[in-house]
Amino acid sequence: MKALVFHNPKDVRVETVEDPKLKASDDAIIRVTSTAICGSDLHIYNGMFPQPRNMILGHEFMGIVEDVGPGVSKLKKGDRVVVPFPIACGHCKFCSMELPTHCENSNPEHYGPEGGLLKGKGGALFGYTDLYGGYDGGQAEYVRVPYANVGPRKVPEGLTDEQILFMTDIFPTGWSAIDWAELKGGETVVVFGCGPVGIMAQKSAWIKGAGRVIGVDIQPYRLEMARKAAKVETINASEVDVVDAIRSMTGGYGADVCVDAVGLEAERSILEKAMNVIQMEKGTMKVLEKCMDAVRRGGVVTVVGVYGTTFDNFPLHQFFDKGIKLMGGQAWVHRYIDQLISLVVEGKVVLDDIITHKVSLSEAPKMYDIFNKKQDNCVKVVLKP
Ligand code: NAD
Ligand code: ZN
Ligand code: ZN
Repeated sequence: MKALVFHNPKDVRVETVEDPKLKASDDAIIRVTSTAICGSDLHIYNGMFPQPRNMILGHEFMGIVEDVGPGVSKLKKGDRVVVPFPIACGHCKFCSMELPTHCENSNPEHYGPEGGLLKGKGGALFGYTDLYGGYDGGQAEYVRVPYANVGPRKVPEGLTDEQILFMTDIFPTGWSAIDWAELKGGETVVVFGCGPVGIMAQKSAWIKGAGRVIGVDIQPYRLEMARKAAKVETINASEVDVVDAIRSMTGGYGADVCVDAVGLEAERSILEKAMNVIQMEKGTMKVLEKCMDAVRRGGVVTVVGVYGTTFDNFPLHQFFDKGIKLMGGQAWVHRYIDQLISLVVEGKVVLDDIITHKVSLSEAPKMYDIFNKKQDNCVKVVLKP
């Protein structure tokens, strides 16, 4: 089959690889009909998450069930499914607590106190480095899906791929950022980052009762997309002091909720110049620091942007002095996905309006470059294997 294979930073290639095979009895093989490139893929592409061997990337995908093992009871050949990005067994201590990204069984080598350097890395993801389980991803014609009774959801009749594809990751991720903030209604929510994840958080904030939603970015075309697709007010953080701007928009108090949907991305240029610890120590917390600054006393900061370094300048003073409630991590896709599919079916949310590029899998390397450089007004790329 054809697949998008990571070789080295900035070197991804579409090439012919072996077809995936069933390994466990509850595996399924999916023929991928649509798959997206994610901001998270850029962390691997840019070498921020090291990946020592070649690997098929891609954790946002959907398609048709091609084959199932004898232990698969919930799917059959021909079913059309959308697949959550975390790989979760469904029955371990953490899966039982509806914390699928911490599954103890999907990433056994790297889980737990005996895991050495990589200890505590948690559960596995599709196509997301050996640290996260080493599973091949879905930017390919076919993909093996472990624990097929747990993750994949059948797609309701009458929906296109584009309408439902973002259930794999970015809509549940944006939703997590807002759900963690436990809105009561009427709050001012500021979302840093108007990339795909940020815009999904903005859409979620309205649905969950925010009174005012403000998007922050440094790319004018991303701000324009946020205004169009999520109907938010925007601040260009490269033109004004964003914390001052938020304070003046909130009577000097700060926002009730700040969401960091940027993560490592803000520091890419610094990291690219020198992958050394001192630089990372200075740089990695910038957007999170701004969130902590711009939130009101007693407010909430949620972090869905990915941070990957162990060297953090966490703003402890702000955290304690302002009494901030803080929550972050990978999205609890399995917990939210059924409810979120219903929102699409009922017409309460539209997700495909952020897609700017829909191309064949063979164009994936070029699209990685364009998406990475934020060229061609690129917001979200969907690949058609
Ligand atoms: P993206 O790269 O398309 O978007 C990031 C946005 O941040 C861009 O629009 C960029 O212009 C903006 N940005 C950069 N520096 C900024 C700054 N200083 N201030 C304001 N905005 C700035 O990526 P995406 O797909 O939207 O993903 C966003 C983040 O969410 C990434 O870190 C990604 O890894 C992460 N993510 C997390 C989860 C999860 O489960 N927690 C899931 C998916 C993605
Ligand atoms: Zn993703
Ligand atoms: Zn589990």
